[in-house]
Amino acid sequence: MRVDNQRPSDNFQDRGSGSGGGGVGAMALFGLFRLLGFRGMLIAIVVLGAIYLFNPFHLREAIFGSVVSNLPGQTQSAGAGGSTCAASPENQQACDFSRRILGSTETVWAQQFRDGRLPNYGAPATSYTDPTLVVYSRSVDTGCGAATSAVGPFYCPQDGNLYVDPSFYQLMAQRLQAPGDFAQAYVIAHEVGHHVQKLIGAMDHPISGESQNQTSVRTELQADCFAGVWGHTAQASLAIDDADLREALNAAHQIGDDTLSRGGDPREYTHGTSEQRMRWFRRGFDSGDARQCDTWSVADYGQL
Ligand SMILES: [Zn+2]
Repeated sequence: MRVDNQRPSDNFQDRGSGSGGGGVGAMALFGLFRLLGFRGMLIAIVVLGAIYLFNPFHLREAIFGSVVSNLPGQTQSAGAGGSTCAASPENQQACDFSRRILGSTETVWAQQFRDGRLPNYGAPATSYTDPTLVVYSRSVDTGCGAATSAVGPFYCPQDGNLYVDPSFYQLMAQRLQAPGDFAQAYVIAHEVGHHVQKLIGAMDHPISGESQNQTSVRTELQADCFAGVWGHTAQASLAIDDADLREALNAAHQIGDDTLSRGGDPREYTHGTSEQRMRWFRRGFDSGDARQCDTWSVADYGQL
């Protein structure tokens, strides 16, 4: 594929590092303990537990359902408050690449919305509004709460931003055996897929009798399919070839819940199996039609 001919999106923020997460929390907890004592802390934990369950952070939409520890290339993260993109040549290249892919998704979805070629969930958005891509290192504050790189790239419906720590791309190649530029593009297009879901009212509308995890799987597979629709529509301008397609399918395979959890309990799956993720991406890529991505109309969850 090529991206040099793609317009870099201006909907881009470089938040550098340390703009969120852990240290402060620990200090606050200690202070709280001193203040409330043991019994008070017990009550606080019960209250905090309840808040956690209903906290919007819980609603963030990540690329895969697991957490990774110590991302490679952390040494390349920005100095406190510094620029993530400027932290290393790899980061600079990842930032530029991400902006160009984002630019391509803006062009594609603006056209899809104008054409109205979208599944209808009762909120027929007529025009596409661009999301913002935020790059950061280590940790970041978001409209869905504080987050760290360990969760991988994600979309926050509350602020309409995508969040990516560029060192995740090295993790894909080194740890997930999902190398390649189109594999990286698939990750961005998947998160943009969540933004499209938000705009058309497809996000997390649970089907009665199904668990939260099952709802999550329907959401994630639709985002994979929307990523395929983008790939189909941008195929010519990005010169996407069979090798690129294999990269994206391999990435979808490598981040399937059954592959990441080495079989694990399917009731715990939140993103779908490798086979499902590949199939729904392929469905969007082969058809180029977002209406083919209606995971909510598949009555039998087992047939998803
Ligand atoms: Zn997702």
